[in-house]
This record gives sequence, C-alpha cells and structure tokens, in this order.
Amino acid sequence: MVSRRQPARQTIQYSIRPADLALHLFEVTLTIASPDADGQIVSLPAWIPGSYMIREFARNIVRIRAECEGRKVRLTKLDKHSWRAARCEGALSIHYQVYAWDLSVRAAHLDQTHGFFNGTSTFLQVHGQEMLPHVVEILPPSDIDGSDAYANWRVATSLRELKARRHRFGSYIADNYDELIDHPVEMGEFQLIRFEAHGVPHEMAITGRVPNLDTARLAADLKKICEQQIALFEPATKRAPMERYVFLTMVVGDGYGGLEHRASTALICSRNDLPVKGQPAMSEGYRGFLGLCSHEYFHTWNVKRIKPAVFAPYDLRQENYTPLLWLFEGFTSYYDDLVLVRAGLIDEKTYLGMLAKTLNGVLRGSGRLKQSVADSSFDAWTKYYRQDENAPNAVVSYYTKGSLVALLLDLTIRAGTQGKRSLDDVMRALWRRYGRDFYAPVHAGRGVTEAEVEALFDEISGLSLKPLLERAVRGTKDLPLAEAFEKLAVAMAPIAKPAKPSLEVRTRKEGSDCKLASVHEGGAAHHAGLSAGDALVAIDGLRVTASNLDALLARYRIGDTVAVHAFRRDELMNFDVELKTDSASQYTIEARDKPLAGAKLRKAWLKVRS
Ligand SMILES: [Zn+2]
Repeated sequence: MVSRRQPARQTIQYSIRPADLALHLFEVTLTIASPDADGQIVSLPAWIPGSYMIREFARNIVRIRAECEGRKVRLTKLDKHSWRAARCEGALSIHYQVYAWDLSVRAAHLDQTHGFFNGTSTFLQVHGQEMLPHVVEILPPSDIDGSDAYANWRVATSLRELKARRHRFGSYIADNYDELIDHPVEMGEFQLIRFEAHGVPHEMAITGRVPNLDTARLAADLKKICEQQIALFEPATKRAPMERYVFLTMVVGDGYGGLEHRASTALICSRNDLPVKGQPAMSEGYRGFLGLCSHEYFHTWNVKRIKPAVFAPYDLRQENYTPLLWLFEGFTSYYDDLVLVRAGLIDEKTYLGMLAKTLNGVLRGSGRLKQSVADSSFDAWTKYYRQDENAPNAVVSYYTKGSLVALLLDLTIRAGTQGKRSLDDVMRALWRRYGRDFYAPVHAGRGVTEAEVEALFDEISGLSLKPLLERAVRGTKDLPLAEAFEKLAVAMAPIAKPAKPSLEVRTRKEGSDCKLASVHEGGAAHHAGLSAGDALVAIDGLRVTASNLDALLARYRIGDTVAVHAFRRDELMNFDVELKTDSASQYTIEARDKPLAGAKLRKAWLKVRS
C-alpha cells in the first residue's frame, strides 16, 4: 500500500545512535510521514540474506514506543517480528533500542571500541512503503558522557552519502528497503586500506588491534583478486557491477566468517591470519583470509545479482527454500581459490593440494551418500545451518561438494570442447541474462530457476551434460573426478593407508576430558557402541586425556581389541573396541607433464605459464 495523501517523493527516515556503549544499545528512531491509514505495520526480518537460518532479530529490541505527531499512541505486537501502530493522522515516529552484542557478521555489535550493524538487526520495515527511498542519519556517540573519547570515530559503509562526507557521520540514502538492509555499517577507529580495481574505488576498514599490519601487501593482493573477478565476468569492458566496494573486517583472536552484500562484505578473521610487515611468505592463515575475501567478493555477481528465483524478492518473514545453493555457494567456493591461483597469489601445486583437501573432507562424511547437494541446499535452514553431532553421518555440504560439482563441470567442459569453452562461459551467460541488469531501474529483478540453470550448461558448452549434472546435483554417488582430471594431465591418486588404528571419531576437549564430538558411521567406535557425548576415561586401564588419545592408540595394531571406559551421563560404561584403520578414501592431486594436450588445457584453466 502506498500513501494516498502525499504521492510526491517521500522518504522513510531513520536515525541511529550508539546510546549506551556499556549496555550495548543502539537507539533508533523511525519516522513515517504518511503512515497506513488503517494502522501502520512494521517488522524486523526473521533472517539475514546470505545466512540461511531463522534468527528472529526482533528479539533484540529492548524498548519500543510510538508517537503520532508527538503524542504517544498504542503499538500492538502482532507476532514475534511485527507491530501495528494505532491510526495516526500525520507523521508517525517509532522509537526503539536494539541490544547489539553479537560478535558475528550477521547481526550487530557495540561497545566502547566500535559499533557494527546490519540493517536487518536495526531498521524496522515499513509495510507497504518498502519501495520509497530510505534515509538514515548515522549519529556518533559523542554526547554520551561529554568527553571527546569518540571524536576520532569514523564510518565505513557502502551506503550512498546524502548529507555526509566520506567516512563521516551524517545522512545516507538507499533507494528502497531491500537496498537499505544490504549495506552493513561499521563505526570506530578502524585502519583504512584503499585501492582501485579496474578504475573502481575499493577499501578495507579493519577494526581491532593488528600490530605491524602489512597494509601495502593487503591492498596489492586484494586488487589482484578483484581485478581477476571483474575481468572474468566482463572480459571486454572490465566493468565492475558497483560504483565502489567496501570490505568491513573485524579482527579477533580466533574467528573466521563472512557475509556478502551487493557492494560490500562483512568479515571476521583471526589476527594471526593477517600479513606482518617484512614477512613475505604466504602463510596458510593469510591464504585462507584471501580466499574468504575472494569468496565474498565473487558473491557480488553470484547471489547478489544472479539470484535464485525465490530470492527475487526475499521473503524476510520466513524460510526461502531453494535447491540451488550448490550453484550460489558451491560455485562461489570453487572460484574463490581458483581466482587466487589465476591471480598468481598461489602456485599450481598449492592449488591442487587445496583441491585434494576439499575432496578428502567431503569423502570423510557418510552424509554424502545420503543427501544430495540439491537436498542439502533446500534443507539448509534446518540441517546445514543447524548441525549437531550427527551431521557428518547425515549432511553433505553444498559448499564443499558444490565446489567439486563446479570443478567436475569445468574440467568436463574444457576437455569436451578442446578448451574452447569452460565454466567461465556459463557464469558469463548467467551474468548477462540474469545478473547484469538485476538492480537496473526498469528491470524486474528476476531470478533464475533450476531448469534454466541446468539448460544453460548444454547450451553454452554444446555438450550433453544433463546426465552428469543429474548425478552430481541430485545424486549421492561420489563424483567421477579422477577421469575428469586425467584429461587435463592431473593425477588423482589414492593415499596408501597408514597401518594406524583409529576410532573414527571427532573429539573435543572439555577441561582435561576427552569427549566424543561425533562418531563416524561404520568406524570402530560406532561398532563398539560408543556415542557422541561420551567422555573417554581409559583405554586398557590407562587414562585418556584431551591430548593423548592418538599416542595411546599408536601402541596397538589394527585388529587388536581394547577395553574402553567412558562416562555417559556420569555413569561408567565399558566397551570392547576392535581397532580398525580409518576407512575414508583419501587422495593426492598432482599435475603431470603428459599428455601434452592435457597439460595445455590445465595451464589455460589455471592461467599458469610454467
Ligand atoms: Zn558464500
């Protein structure tokens, strides 16, 4: 519904201010010039796009009240996300506080050192007026205690400035509600790194103390990643899909994660993963961080513009089911590391080693034999995002197996067309048809359906890929990767099993106890009746601690039976465990010189020269 009284270009107005840093409260005021005559409904989203789990952000609203032309009016709660204000002739304003103490990329966080928020946590949606421009005044915490402790705070966001200088407090604008909640905001005393990628300004705001951070290296490496991706989608024009791009990075002692947005990303990383001045080696942690940046940046095209049909538009009240996350997360996971090797940041050997690690991880869980990536995607809300101790035996990751599906298709298309076509061509076709104009004013913003995606592989490659796709996406058999690799002169060879006994469990440390986190189906522990949650006490009368399990087991041979004591619900239980070897197949993946034609295809795939 749109207001009848004032059809002119109105705006929805918000102001947001860090109100109590120690209590972690943002104070928000929403002003609606022409509220719904029947009583304005407002709500907060139940989930944040990109993270497929119901999170019920409205539970963090601490106090809320409404005023009509300055007089208090009733606000009735309709359900866990929504309110209806009493009828109001004139401007309706809603004042509320948001508790912000979730140190993740998905919600909001506020203390004396910084503030961070996603619009899904802070900005009530004004039902019926979502298509109006939304203006936000972002205010500093300066007047909290009269001190100037926050005088150096700045703002980092990809929201467009309306009345604000770059990186300053002031008012910002979004074309509609969907855009408003797609630009997270960071405030504080962050380090700022700037670079251009094919002419487009990019920046990274880094919050958290990082001594001797090698900012020049970070800028140079990110530039290579971003330019590689821009050129992948637009090889002729090298045109990026956004006017500027912002990486918001929160640095902590131990953390890893990211969430994609249309012109920015929110990241969380470990301090030790960031590069140190004067230490030029590529650490595994830094490689992982660059992979994360690359992943979220790739989403700028794949899921923020090329989208599943059910995400256009998002229904923010409830689960949005799609079987296509193998494409949107899996293919993004494939390209994130591939871009690193193509940009020259890692070498071929390292890249193939990373592929082996992904493959071996997928082969470790028996869940892969029960759930397809299409089903894993559909059930993301209740399974992948809510993993319990049974997950390895029940769930397959549409990220990791999805990236292997992309790999298989890419190798197959390259070999089948003698290198004339590749998965890059399929991505470009998706981009041209569904992505490029997604946010254009006249474009309806249509997403892509499962049938359209699947038809595209045959159309673009000229091959008959349907049976392979069916097996890879809706099947549960392992993928025929060894054959596909062979044609690009890559050897995938099984690793000889070490004659080392294994319980086939994952353990977790609890104090000095060794607790079973999960028990793998078909392994020695499963056959003996051990269960996730059991606290191991002793093996053959010798105490098991959080750190000595492998050393104790190493004294035995495969086939030996040992007496295991464990506590379950504080009751001592005995198990006779016949030791077995780790049953998961594991592989190495290495480049070969021959056949020559295959090696040539491989070099074109990875864009390596030597
Ligand atoms: Zn992703």
